[in-house]
Amino acid sequence: MTWKSNSTILLISSPAQRSGRNLTITARTLIEINPNISEAEHVRKWNQRENCPINEPVPADLFDIEAITRAPTRLQFTLASLDSFIRASPSQPHSGYLSVILTKLNLLSLWKTGQLFSMPCPCGAPVYANTASAPCAACGTRNTKLRINPCLVPELADETGAICSTLLPGSPPHPPNPSKTTIPHTGSRRQSKILWTDEAWTQLLGRHPDQLAALLGPGDPAQARRNLNMLRYLEQRLSFMRVVLLVGWTGDEVMGGRLVVLRVLG
Ligand SMILES: [Zn+2]
Repeated sequence: MTWKSNSTILLISSPAQRSGRNLTITARTLIEINPNISEAEHVRKWNQRENCPINEPVPADLFDIEAITRAPTRLQFTLASLDSFIRASPSQPHSGYLSVILTKLNLLSLWKTGQLFSMPCPCGAPVYANTASAPCAACGTRNTKLRINPCLVPELADETGAICSTLLPGSPPHPPNPSKTTIPHTGSRRQSKILWTDEAWTQLLGRHPDQLAALLGPGDPAQARRNLNMLRYLEQRLSFMRVVLLVGWTGDEVMGGRLVVLRVLG
């Protein structure tokens, strides 16, 4: 039996309570590993959602994008109706179109802090950089392949609600609004619960992530100024833009359930 972080579930029956909030085991205590009960599955999915990696690729073959775009029936969601769809059958994958406004962008702030690209290293440490690959400071692994940091688009909204997928440290928490639907909220953490395909990033930013990384490559101060101006222009152009997204819900059997932006349709 191998302990898997964020995966292995223990069911502890009949523990004894020690002083304060500590529990201890006794001769009567039973510890079951990965018990086959619905509560364990619920805890596992909740944990997968809450402790998702800082970035990860969209699982291959989960969505047949070409088949979805050719389908005669096209589901047009609002954020509220998508939320209702997911709540009605959370394990069922869904796909459809969302017309949303990009109400917040972190393009400049992520570039300034050297976090435009990110991925966890196989050792588990987060790796951030403004380049398409970077070494891991924790274990020394060279050239960890990075993807665009999904925190670049932390907030989407339409007339029925908003998705606040991430907040950078220091940002005030988004005020709760009972009249709006909010799909998953992560408090003050850096993870984004929304996955983006490279194709969607390319359509949103006007260039492939690798081309963006090459453009922003290290250079002299004049180059840094040009980068700053280019990113500022891009952020201003995209801010509060309405875009139609082809999105998919993975179903909660996959990574606890994640929303994926498959394509940006303008
Ligand atoms: Zn590492």
